[in-house]
Parts: sequence; C-alpha cells; structure tokens
Amino acid sequence: MSLFDLITKLPGVGEKRALVVKQLGIRTIEDLLTYYPYRYDDLASRLPSQTDDGQKVTFKGTISSPALLLRFGYKKSRVSFHLLVGHDNIAVSFFNQPWIKEQIELGQEMAVFGVFDAVHASLSGQKIIHADNDSLAAIYPASQSIHEKTIQQLVAHAYQQYADEIVEIVPADLRQTFRLLPRVQQIHDMHFPDSAQAAKLARRSAAFEEFFLFQMRIQLLKISSAKHQGRQINYDAVVIENFIAQLPYRLTHAQEKVIQEVLSDLKRPLHMNRLLQGDVGSGKTVVAAVAMLASISAGFQAAIMVPTEILAQQHANNLSNLYENAGLHLRVELLTSGLKAAARRQVLQDLENGEIDVIVGTHALIQPDVRFHHLGLAVIDEQHRFGVKQRATLRKQAENPDILAMTATPIPRTLAITAYGEMTISTIDELPQGRQKIITKWVKSNQTDHVFDWIKVQLAKGAQAYVVTPLIEESESLDVQNAELIYDRLKSELLPYRVSLLHGRLTNDEKQQVIDDFSNNKTQVLVTTTVIEVGVDIKNATIMVILDADRFGIAQLHQLRGRVGRGDKQSYAILVSDPKTQYGIDRMEAIAATTDGFVLAEKDLELRGPGDVIGIKQAGMPEFNVGDPIHDLKMMETAQQSAIEITSREHWDTDKNNAGLVKYLSLTMYRYKDFD
Ligand code: ADP
Ligand code: MG
Repeated sequence: MSLFDLITKLPGVGEKRALVVKQLGIRTIEDLLTYYPYRYDDLASRLPSQTDDGQKVTFKGTISSPALLLRFGYKKSRVSFHLLVGHDNIAVSFFNQPWIKEQIELGQEMAVFGVFDAVHASLSGQKIIHADNDSLAAIYPASQSIHEKTIQQLVAHAYQQYADEIVEIVPADLRQTFRLLPRVQQIHDMHFPDSAQAAKLARRSAAFEEFFLFQMRIQLLKISSAKHQGRQINYDAVVIENFIAQLPYRLTHAQEKVIQEVLSDLKRPLHMNRLLQGDVGSGKTVVAAVAMLASISAGFQAAIMVPTEILAQQHANNLSNLYENAGLHLRVELLTSGLKAAARRQVLQDLENGEIDVIVGTHALIQPDVRFHHLGLAVIDEQHRFGVKQRATLRKQAENPDILAMTATPIPRTLAITAYGEMTISTIDELPQGRQKIITKWVKSNQTDHVFDWIKVQLAKGAQAYVVTPLIEESESLDVQNAELIYDRLKSELLPYRVSLLHGRLTNDEKQQVIDDFSNNKTQVLVTTTVIEVGVDIKNATIMVILDADRFGIAQLHQLRGRVGRGDKQSYAILVSDPKTQYGIDRMEAIAATTDGFVLAEKDLELRGPGDVIGIKQAGMPEFNVGDPIHDLKMMETAQQSAIEITSREHWDTDKNNAGLVKYLSLTMYRYKDFD
C-alpha cells in the first residue's frame, strides 16, 4: 500500500468514477487526501437571537407544527413546518426535497441547517443534521458530474485505509521551527476538524507544505538547469571597458552594478536566467548592449526580442550607433514580420552562418525556421509584454542561451518568488543624472482647448509633443478614426508647426517614416495611438498629452509618460480626462502625484487588488491549492528561504532527515513537467 496507489484501489471506485474524479485533478490516494475543502459549514447549533440575517446556521428545537407539502409545477415543491428554537417559533421551508416531509413529526427534536431570514423569522433549510458530534462539515470544490457528498465519502474511505501510510515530508527541523502539525494530523484536521481552530491550524501546516514543496521544485529546477545547460562566456574585459569608456555619457552606479552582476553570471559556467527591472528611462538598453557585446567578444551571437516593430527598429539603430561609436564593427540586423521574403531569407541564412552578430527582432525571432550559428545570449526587452510560452520558445530556440529579461514594470514581491522564482533579479534603482521630474497635470476635457494653445506656445520654444488617443471599445478601426479626428484638428490649429499621425494600420515602412520624421524634428507633433507605448526614445520630445486618460491603467499611463523626460529638458505630461468612477479619479491622482514606478506599482496593487495587476495572469502565476501567495507572502518567503537553505547543504538529498521529502519530490515531479 502506498499513498501513490491509484484511487481505483478504494472499494467502490471503478474506472468510471476514477475518470470523473480525474477531472478534479485526482489520480492517486495522495491527490485525494490533499484535495482539501475550501470551507466548512459550521453545524453547531445556535439561537436565533445570536444569528445575523442571511447567516448560515443550525437551529436545534422541537417541531411545533405538522409538515405541509406543496407541489408547484413539474418537480418543484416546498415542505414547510415550524421549529420552536428557544423561545422563537421559526418557519422552516425545504425546497425541492419532498421526501423531507416523511422525517417531520410533531413534537420531535430536530436540528436543521440553513440560511436564516431574521425579518421573517424563517429558515431556508438545506439539510437535516443527524449526527450530534460533527460540528464542522467540509465543503469541497465539486463538479457537475460529482457530488460534494461523494467526495466527502471518498476522502473518508481513503483516510481510514491509508492513514498509516502518511509519512512526514517537511523535514523535522522545519516542522519544529515553524510549529507544524504532523502530516497525518494535518490531513485529518483539514478534512475532519473538531473545531474551527483545529481547521485553521491544519490549513497553516498544509499551506506551508504546499509552498515549501513548490519552492523545493524551483530550487531543483534552478540547480539542474544551471548544471546541465550552462556554458561559460569568456568575454573580453578590455573590449567591454573600451566600449563603456566610449559611451556618450557616464553610467549610473546602478547601471554599473547590474552590469557587473550580468557579467559575472556570464563568466560562470552556469546558465544565466536574470530579470532586470528598472523604471522607464533608467537606461536598461545600454546594459543589454554591454551584455550582448560580452557574448560576441567570446565568439557567440546575441539576440534581443522586443514587442513592437518600432522598438525593434529603434534598438537596431541605437545598438549600431553605440557599437560604431566605440569603433566596433559589428553586424546588427533586424528580423521582423515586415521584412520582404528575399531579405528575410538572406538574414536567416547569414544568421545561421554566423555572419550576424546581433539580431534584433519581434516575435519573428521565435519562428521555427530561425536558426542561429552559436547563440550565447538572448535578451527579452519589455518582457511583461510577452507570454510565458513566447519566452520559453526563445529559450528553447537555440541551445538554451543565457537569458536577460528586462522590464520597467516592477515585479511585486509575490510574483518575484513565485512566477519568477527561478530567475535572479537585478534592479536599476536610479535614473541618469540631470533628469528633471516630469511635471504631470490632470485636467478635465473642457480644458482641452487650453492644452492645445499651451502646446503651441511650447512648440514656439522648440519643444515637440506626443498626443496620445486611446483605444476605443477595443475596436481598432474606431481607434484609428478617433486619432484621425484629432490629427485633422491639430494639423490646422497648430500651423505653422507640422503634425503627423501614427497608428497600427500603417505599414511598417510608413510607421518608420513617421517616427523618423518626428525623431528628426521634421514634424513637431505626433498624434498617436498606444502603438507608441513602450520603449520609444526621442529626447527632444518633452510633452506628452494623453486624451481620455482614464481609459488607461496605471501601468500603461506610466509607460506612456515615460516617453518624455528622456533628456535633461523639463518635460510635461498632461492627462485629459473626466473619470466617472472613484477608481478613475484615484488613478489620475496617483499618476499626477508621483513619477516613481515602484510607488505606482504599489498603488496599482492597492487599487486593483493583486489578481488583476498587469502581468500576474500573463506572467503565469502558478495556482495554489491551499495557500494564497499574495495573502500569505511572509509564509511563501519563509518557504523559499527554507528550500534554498536545504538545497545548499551538501548531500542534502541523501541525508536521512530529508528522506520523506526526497521521495515525495521524486514521485511527484511528473506533475510539474510543464514548468520549463
Ligand atoms: P529604458 O530603461 O526605459 O529602456 P533607455 O535604455 O531607453 O531606458 O534609456 C533612456 C535614455 O537614457 C536613452 O536615451 C539613453 O541613451 C539614456 N541614458 C541611458 N543611460 C544613461 C546615463 N547613464 N546617463 C545619461 N543618459 C543615459
Ligand atoms: Mg527600454
């Protein structure tokens, strides 16, 4: 007998039932025993005077009127009677359970569980309570094809037969330190608690166990991927030093620090999987440039994947210029879906032959026919814009390159130790010197004319401006129409200054032309949809006007605002909006109040609740059964530390104190195969 027996080992569970239960994710006895209830019904009886309106409760009393059965329509019925509970005569009704009538006898003692209606002194009955002793009933997540009651019975059977097989998984020292229950008691009390307190304690132990096992798996993955897929990138330190010395600016301390972190990762014969977070404008691109140069100087190729064509083009230009400027003759090429077939074929061929040093691309980089000669490093810019799958594809694309993922969206701690648990995080926590705070104002839409007048005054002083129009109702065509309207208006109002229009319907060449003209100050105002959102870097543009700003979330507004304030000139962001909800007002006020992306991320978390914050779903937040990693963050951190500590001990996997853990992990690794 073993907990890993299939549940068909239980009497009365045939192939058919096993199939139904499998839909709940239950295959083995272990699965069943850790299929925990999500709540308990408190069946202990109370008096009506102690019960709130709408509350679920058990009333115990004497039946004071005969039962009446009413049938209405097909299959519908109501059984009603009175129950004298203390001094209150409560009207009880059971809907669609006509057989209840047979159990009602005048003058008999009875306990009924249901929902209390204080106004009518009535109880909508759910079930009759027979057993006196169990005061808490476990309620399980059930499905259409399996009843809650059936799960209760299966769990009870499994526990009866297999309780002796339950051994400890969490090592003894941890159990002692964190005062965890023995596993057998934890499982017992999760399913059959004697009191709410017992259930609570069991849940605490079960949550820790779940978090701890999760973190152990992350550590094991880290160890194995570092061991097996690593390679040493022996970069040329002189080349790097020379490149940094030739930069048109001095690196900030924060940039220097993270460059060191990345370089020392590359040098080690282990696989790098690093996440670089730094606010918009903090200068992540140059860090990527250094890392890629390191890879190239050691004889490898480097790739950088970005979410938009505009950004790809910009990075390709930027990187070429940076390398050129340092006297390096590297071949930087662009690979996007906009490329003509012949040009694409050429790029692919040169890439495979190793003639291209740096390839800059969109998701076009992760197509199956893209092959590298010797890819050493893959950078993923604006990584939160890519799904888990796309990031994984890039990783697998080419013999597991070292990975540097970059994001301006600060990773909440919760995500950092769950979804990003297998990555090491570097942070740029400082902006380049000489940056001025972007002055941010929120105005109502009846001020739009003033805003446009003000823009004209600024244009006369040599400024350039973005005017962002929002996505309307998720419809791209309306979205474009809206942008066109604003464009037509500004084109005449802002004369003699020149206005251009950018939106998703333009071809790539057209887009590029528009961006180039704006970048070269041939046009002074760029009316644009959110295609401009990420990454675009044009220093002379110092004004960002966002129309209908309440249509955007905090993270997006912050990204948009980040398009200005990139040089040393004073920049402005004007949010034009009439938010109709408090949440909308809160967002406008938050953006106007600070330019600190980390503070805003916290605010976003607070306003929206963690589940909704951009990135959490897309980031592939794993699902937990018992614990809630957002609510129980402290516990998750403790579990992480414990897992790191254990796996860093020598011979931990043969230590007999960890025998239960090691065995359990080896038997359950299959469940997590989609991890990488
Ligand atoms: P982000 O982190 O948002 O990707 P970028 O890498 O685009 O930021 O950098 C923003 C701007 O700041 C760019 O124009 C870049 O040339 C400039 N920059 C980067 N590092 C420095 C620095 N240390 N000093 C001055 N300017 C810098
Ligand atoms: Mg960037």
